[in-house]
Amino acid sequence: MGDAVSTCDVLVVGAGPGGGNAALQCARKGLSTMIIEDHPAIGTPVHCGECISEIACENLNLELPEHVISLRVHGIRVIFPDGTEKCLTEEGYVLEKHLFERWIADEASEAGASIHLNHKLTSMEKVEENGRFAGWLCDGKGDEFPIRAKVVIDASGVAAVCSKIVRPTDEKPLNEMGKVVAGMQYEMLEVPTDGYLDFYIWPKYAEKGYLWMIPKCDGRANVGLVTEDRPRTKKALDEFISITHFKELKQVSPPWKEKGNPAFGGTIPISGPFDNTHYDGLMLVGDAAGFTSPLFEGGSHLALKSAVYAADTAAAAIAEDDLSAQRLSVYSRLWKDEFPPYDKILRGKNALFDLSDDEMSAMARCFPDEMGDMGVSGKAMVGLKLLFRRPGLYFKKIVPAMLAFGYSRARYYGW
Ligand SMILES: Cc1cc2nc3c(=O)[nH]c(=O)nc-3n(C[C@H](O)[C@H](O)[C@H](O)COP(=O)(O)OP(=O)(O)OC[C@H]3O[C@@H](n4cnc5c(N)ncnc54)[C@H](O)[C@@H]3O)c2cc1C
Repeated sequence: MGDAVSTCDVLVVGAGPGGGNAALQCARKGLSTMIIEDHPAIGTPVHCGECISEIACENLNLELPEHVISLRVHGIRVIFPDGTEKCLTEEGYVLEKHLFERWIADEASEAGASIHLNHKLTSMEKVEENGRFAGWLCDGKGDEFPIRAKVVIDASGVAAVCSKIVRPTDEKPLNEMGKVVAGMQYEMLEVPTDGYLDFYIWPKYAEKGYLWMIPKCDGRANVGLVTEDRPRTKKALDEFISITHFKELKQVSPPWKEKGNPAFGGTIPISGPFDNTHYDGLMLVGDAAGFTSPLFEGGSHLALKSAVYAADTAAAAIAEDDLSAQRLSVYSRLWKDEFPPYDKILRGKNALFDLSDDEMSAMARCFPDEMGDMGVSGKAMVGLKLLFRRPGLYFKKIVPAMLAFGYSRARYYGW
């Protein structure tokens, strides 16, 4: 730790998609912005299936440069336990995610933000001037510490560091940590694809989760899963591979990984948005705020968008010289008005996983081949088919389960 105090308007903690975009938006608004990242490089290790929809890019005004795009894709194909396949067609991209994150960080740097790798935030103290909150004095490992910032944007992902270290009262941290699921994948070669992301809802291997094949360029693909059965993550993925056509294919380390086991992954928060996503001089974005989509657990779009709201709010609060929690509550209002109803989707997910494999497949067989344009009449038709074929199922909360698929679409921040 150095002796001199570094100062900035906004300190962004973490250089994932949420942090990178928060820094970019803050710097573009003329705020002096520092971004700190615990790791020695941005974007690695990758802990993502790497897909993002076209709708997300439009919503964020992102014009992806070619070098961050691995493959253009047409949407999601959901594969149910009996092999029934249904599509949710929506164009999108599979990224080289580490290059994507580096590109956003480079853009932030060009806009004036300073980036500090190997910097880990470990503590924060409130600064008061004339009896008013005036910012945070942040400390940690790295030469730039201590850092004094008017506003801190926590984009530290599932670590949610500020929620743990900030204590509004002596007894309790800002937020209690929720549940997480584990995700793991392999890169494979010569994987057949028609340009859809294959999502397998096969609870036998992925408890309350799913497995995927996410195609990339040159025949590469991510083959992986998320599951609530964390101790069995790798074993379950290996078992799934051993009984599918993936068994014949070669597993390799991804290009950014030099040594060790080829498997890579991470954890994903699944308890929904945290209770407190703002506080005096503090806003939480992305996974650090618990923003992930409940059914397929995508989080990049939500992280990138919440970063925009946090930067807008920071700029306005700093301009008005009011950094209070009351002023920053605008941020929580903005995301609440925009993001889809988490509880409703979660109810749908739970209803889906209450079904047996056989019931899930029977429901899927009633869906049209393209689930994307079911509309009201389409859903009514599915309901009628179910009533006719499986009256017992009709009354088993099938409607919320169906709605969960609808809400997993890109326009609802599903991917
Ligand atoms: C296996 C898997 C597959 C996934 N697939 C997809 C997908 O295909 N599409 C999708 O949209 N989402 C996917 N997700 C979720 C997605 O990866 C996250 O939602 C997204 O990365 C969240 O971005 P973020 O910026 O909030 O956090 P992160 O990307 O996690 O970035 C947080 C950063 O903060 C840094 N950090 C942590 N603590 C500190 C500290 N104390 N000081 C400084 N820096 C710190 C970390 O090193 C990290 O770089 C997947 C997740 C997993 C685990």
